[in-house]
Amino acid sequence: MVKIAWHEQYVHPLPEGHRFPMLKYELIPQQLLHQGWISSEQLFAPDLLNEELVLRSHDPKYWEHLKMLSLPPKDQRRIGLPLSRQLVERELRIAQGTVEGALHALEDGIAFNVAGGTHHAGSDWGEGFCLLNDQAIAANYLLDKGLVGRVLIIDLDVHQGNGTAEIFADDRRVFTFSMHGDKNFPFRKERSDLDIPLADGVGDAEFLKKLAEVLPGLMHHKPDFVFYLSGVDILDSDRLGKLCLSKAGCRERDRLVFQFCRDHGLPVQVSMGGGYSPQIKDIVDAHCMTFKTGIDIFD
Ligand SMILES: [Zn+2]
Repeated sequence: MVKIAWHEQYVHPLPEGHRFPMLKYELIPQQLLHQGWISSEQLFAPDLLNEELVLRSHDPKYWEHLKMLSLPPKDQRRIGLPLSRQLVERELRIAQGTVEGALHALEDGIAFNVAGGTHHAGSDWGEGFCLLNDQAIAANYLLDKGLVGRVLIIDLDVHQGNGTAEIFADDRRVFTFSMHGDKNFPFRKERSDLDIPLADGVGDAEFLKKLAEVLPGLMHHKPDFVFYLSGVDILDSDRLGKLCLSKAGCRERDRLVFQFCRDHGLPVQVSMGGGYSPQIKDIVDAHCMTFKTGIDIFD
């Protein structure tokens, strides 16, 4: 049975008018249940991540600042969310959901987190709504426990996975692949093991062609586990992304990734990443389709 991490604390109240769409974290599990694509037994509520696991991927000083809510104002502004104890707890739960999801994926082939994909968080900084890097934390956990030997991170959010790239810059066991809008945030990019920057306005045909070309070559790294970051801010309707994929194109992107994992016997943990279309329905529909596509391929 495919497992999905979700906790009511994922839906954290933010000040009125905030640009970060928190509502999707409430609506996605509701819609998945309503459609009958999942059942409630598939949802699990993650606890708070153990501090030791934070420190395996993040700098002790940075973590201390988060924990004590003492991050300097300019570093808080870089995160773009008002720092609070609840927000830090939310991030710890999300990261724990990804760690446990990775363990479930080893059993079931695939597992999801209804949040996460906090790929802008680097070893000693938070940025772009990300405090702690959930998939980096989970990758280090699997490697440290000897559960996997080599990891592949496929990051297809419209924004570059700069934090993930930095955390694993010197770790040859982890191959980081990011395909993203070139002219988009973060404006100072890190170097992933493979970066494919895309021009503004790229649509379904070019995006899917590039992805289909590149996936087979990723096996040269000999991964035995995949973390997939499935941001839906690649949609034409997105107000932060500058790409122009349709919903069908976004679904085909997910299908290509999941089929690649399935064909090579690679377990995959999926974190959601961004989605900022003005209509919440567009965001929720696209994310839910990622869940359905993955579950259909692995079930
Ligand atoms: Zn994004």
